[in-house]
Amino acid sequence: MATDPADLLRRHGIQVTAQRLAVLRAVAAQPHATADVLAEAVRAGIGAISLQSVYDALAVLSAEGLIRRIQPAGSPARFEDRVGDNHHHLMCRVCGRMVDVACAVGAAPCLAVADDKGYEIDEAEVVYWGRCPDCRPRAGASPRPAPAVPKRRDRPKAMRTRAPAIPPTRPGKKLPDRRPGRPSRQER
Ligand SMILES: [Zn+2]
Ligand SMILES: [Zn+2]
Repeated sequence: MATDPADLLRRHGIQVTAQRLAVLRAVAAQPHATADVLAEAVRAGIGAISLQSVYDALAVLSAEGLIRRIQPAGSPARFEDRVGDNHHHLMCRVCGRMVDVACAVGAAPCLAVADDKGYEIDEAEVVYWGRCPDCRPRAGASPRPAPAVPKRRDRPKAMRTRAPAIPPTRPGKKLPDRRPGRPSRQER
């Protein structure tokens, strides 16, 4: 049974405001969204709200543990309301889509550290980077076979290197037609 967001705020000692409620709802509706995206959603729901107010609400909610803030390297922070577990994330390098993935092994920190250096470890924050199904090359479509370009044996090597590069997709049929018996044109 879903908890009433207002109750949730009260139980954490957070003053209930329309803005905080709207931000909490937006985070629940769009897991892993950035503050910009959440601000759009909040504006659609309750009207004008400054980006700073959204940031403030996100800061209060994350500080109280109602939402989790994820900070992928080189990317704006994301927010989600799935808290209290040690799940990890898959991140697409191309489109930036982020999705949940369960703990690598069991409960937090779920990844044994080679040497804890005396630290008491309670969490392993893992982001797996790669390409999502929409951004990775289609199965069976790669690698594209190289088009057959006839070797131009008639040209001396020095000329070949100076010749304009022929794009690999261009068919070799545009080459000068050499009929049998006709001497091939020699370039100086
Ligand atoms: Zn992608
Ligand atoms: Zn997540």
